[in-house]
Amino acid sequence: MRFEFATATRIIFGPGTIQEAAPLAAQMGRRAFVVTGRTIERAEMLLGELRKHKIDFVPFNVTGEPTTILVKEALEQARQAKTDLVLGIGGGSVLDTGKVVAAMLTNSGQLEDYLEVVGQGKPLTRNPVPYIAIPTTAGTGAEVTRNAVIGVPEYGGKVSMRSPLLLPRIAIVDPELTYSMPPFLTATTGLDALTQLIEADVCNKANPLTDGICREGLVRVARSLRQVYEDGSNEAAREDMALASLFSGLALANAGLGAVHGLAGPLGGIFNIPHGLICARLLPYVMQVNIQALQSRAGNKQALARYEQVAQLLTGKTSAGAIDGVKWIQELCSGFKLPSLSQFKLKEADFPAIVARSQKSSSMKGNPIALTDDELMDILKKADK
Ligand code: NAD
Repeated sequence: MRFEFATATRIIFGPGTIQEAAPLAAQMGRRAFVVTGRTIERAEMLLGELRKHKIDFVPFNVTGEPTTILVKEALEQARQAKTDLVLGIGGGSVLDTGKVVAAMLTNSGQLEDYLEVVGQGKPLTRNPVPYIAIPTTAGTGAEVTRNAVIGVPEYGGKVSMRSPLLLPRIAIVDPELTYSMPPFLTATTGLDALTQLIEADVCNKANPLTDGICREGLVRVARSLRQVYEDGSNEAAREDMALASLFSGLALANAGLGAVHGLAGPLGGIFNIPHGLICARLLPYVMQVNIQALQSRAGNKQALARYEQVAQLLTGKTSAGAIDGVKWIQELCSGFKLPSLSQFKLKEADFPAIVARSQKSSSMKGNPIALTDDELMDILKKADK
């Protein structure tokens, strides 16, 4: 057995830990570039603390999922401000933007040189400027992953910049920052975390360290996602979901993902569909097709036992079989009243292009069994019902 495990240099978890950001930032730099989400109010407290600690800063708003255009604009502003420190406070979109800005401030050349699929996937060679990542959603775990997902409009898809050097210097995970998430966002981001935990658990590169992390995360999602959707003020459930998200990031960064994320790249790149919703819609059908394929032809047979274990953790029943996990997720999702993908203008005529692109993605390589184009088409059809 050989595996490696890398994560952020330091992870600080707990309610109120946002207070630690400014003093830590003061030890790392003087001119900060602060990437925030659509609503700058969520970052006000942090900005006030930075002022108190005499750190000059330039704020930058990320209003949607990042694209090459947005990232280049951010980078330009960060260069002009002679930035020596980057902070990101927001969802995965914000955290990924911050990662790329921190990296491109020290690595020369064009952004595209470093992107997978559309570029050369050139390795980063220089350490980025110090980066503090502070999530405000509980779903992506991007504060501890070594990739950043960027939309490339002219390609019509999302691709990654990937390097261990992208791992933030500090990840501050404060569950209190997620209290303001409305039910729909709570559900879809939580289902992203659940997808990441399941895909990393059954994927080809799972290892004993990520196995333990996935299982601990799955238990927390099982007991808390429905609860926090129904009552966003449930602090214990918010804490569970913040941990589950962190664990999903630790696992995916060190094990990999699968077909849900393989399909999510082109789907989210072509259509303006929130990433968490795509995961929620695809997850039960990818699981169903994977289980059927693993039962009927050669593949990673261990994955079947793993799907069974996932089902047992989710349902809390030791007698649960692999397919019971799929049913548990379908029931959970039906309570969330999620919109269909066709409401975002996705049509059946688009499926072949999405399938073709998904087959090239690195996530698809982690899937426990190679799926055919027909199987992927079938997943898209079912997910859109
Ligand atoms: P997001 O960052 O796109 O945010 C979604 C919405 O939630 C935005 O409108 C934002 O303003 C709002 N929001 C954020 N925090 C809030 C809060 N506390 N209260 C109320 N509203 C809040 O959503 P996301 O799901 O966190 O991130 C999705 C992005 O992350 C996608 O681009 C996806 O591809 C990427 N991603 C990256 C990784 C990685 O490892 N790098 C992993 C998974 C997903």
